[in-house]
Amino acid sequence: MVLLVKPESVDNGFSLDMALRTEPLELEYISAMLKEAGIPCYLYEVAVDPCSFDELLKKYHPKAVAVTGYITQENRIKDYAQQTKAFDPGILTLVGGPHAQRNAERFYEPYIDFICRSDNIYAILDVLSQKPFENIDGLCYHTCEGWQENPLRAFDMNRLPIPDRSHMERYLFSYRYLDVHPVALLKTSSSCPHHCSFCYGRLLNLGRYYQRDLSLVIKEIQEISSPNIQIVDDDFLYDEKRLWQFVSLIRSHQIHKTFICYGRADFITAHPELMKALADIGLKYVMIGLEAVSNRQLDSYAKGTSLDMNCCCIRLLRDLSIHPVGLFIVDIRFRRKDFRNLRRFIRSLELAYTGVSIFTPIPGTALYRQYEKRLLTKDPEKWDFMHLVVPPVHLSLFGFYLEYFLLVMELFRLAQKKGIYRFLHLNDYKHIFRKLLFHEGLHRT
Ligand code: SF4
Repeated sequence: MVLLVKPESVDNGFSLDMALRTEPLELEYISAMLKEAGIPCYLYEVAVDPCSFDELLKKYHPKAVAVTGYITQENRIKDYAQQTKAFDPGILTLVGGPHAQRNAERFYEPYIDFICRSDNIYAILDVLSQKPFENIDGLCYHTCEGWQENPLRAFDMNRLPIPDRSHMERYLFSYRYLDVHPVALLKTSSSCPHHCSFCYGRLLNLGRYYQRDLSLVIKEIQEISSPNIQIVDDDFLYDEKRLWQFVSLIRSHQIHKTFICYGRADFITAHPELMKALADIGLKYVMIGLEAVSNRQLDSYAKGTSLDMNCCCIRLLRDLSIHPVGLFIVDIRFRRKDFRNLRRFIRSLELAYTGVSIFTPIPGTALYRQYEKRLLTKDPEKWDFMHLVVPPVHLSLFGFYLEYFLLVMELFRLAQKKGIYRFLHLNDYKHIFRKLLFHEGLHRT
């Protein structure tokens, strides 16, 4: 028996987990692989499972415990591995996921046996079947000379099985994307072919972009019971020919779903016909990294888009009844007028769906190395894009958080006026941001 663990989100009072809760897709691939190999497993998603970790350790006494998670969950990942070893030092502990993949050394702990750095989930099977460790793709493991890091090979996601969604079916109504629920996740490509300077996703899988064969994608969609599917590719709207094939396959298989995906303004504006066809087969939400409201700033991120393009993209999507979800970076170089400009831009385009993330250099990127000496904190829980981890350039911490608070409040009111986010409460929002303002803003000034 293998216990697969998705830790809870960090509960430091700032979590917006209620707005975005997703099925543990990466563990569902592993679950399918283990089941195919005849190895029983239990997928433990802490946020929805009624059992405690301790109860499950006692009940199953697993051979191995594998834990995944994001940077904010780094301490949780370690806690689960440590608890496992305290329960029985003979149980193997494995750690993986996007954060561990690029920052393995953060998990060099005596209670962690293996760190899986590759997208290649079969490395886990190799460990369990005791293949020689030195041959296992991207594996980190202890030797008498310390930790050993095996070289990484790019992994073709066509080798992934169809995920085992039995867990998802059990907790279907726990999963939402903003006001859409239930929602399933689907991955049709890995990594990203673009090179925006701040981005972490494009570095995964050695930066090699792979597309999943569309016949596998369609097979997977046909097995999904949820009426809504969030395609979690870093950039789904990339390959024109493949997207026309996708449209045609969805039509010919008479699939009726609502789709949500990520896309770029340059592609969307250059392909109005294709976007119309995608809207016709159910595309309802496109998350676009609009990032900034000036060309100078867009260029500084090497985004390869422009302000005109962003505006044009929003209008085009709206004409097709697709909701644009505008994602912006709140830069540490922001002055008061930049916050004002961002608010004005969003208001003028009546963008109801927005996400505003504070500029955050992520460990494992070149940007992180650039800012490493100026970090305000090393606490991984602060890497949630709502905290300043490097000092603002022109404003005090309090001044910056105050402007951020006003921005988020205005966006929240705009969204509620449009009748969305009804499941969120203004007071919760206010509470979160007051905490941010007075705990974080005053803390170091
Ligand atoms: S397009 Fe999106 S996913 Fe790709 S590199 Fe840029 S920010 Fe990252």
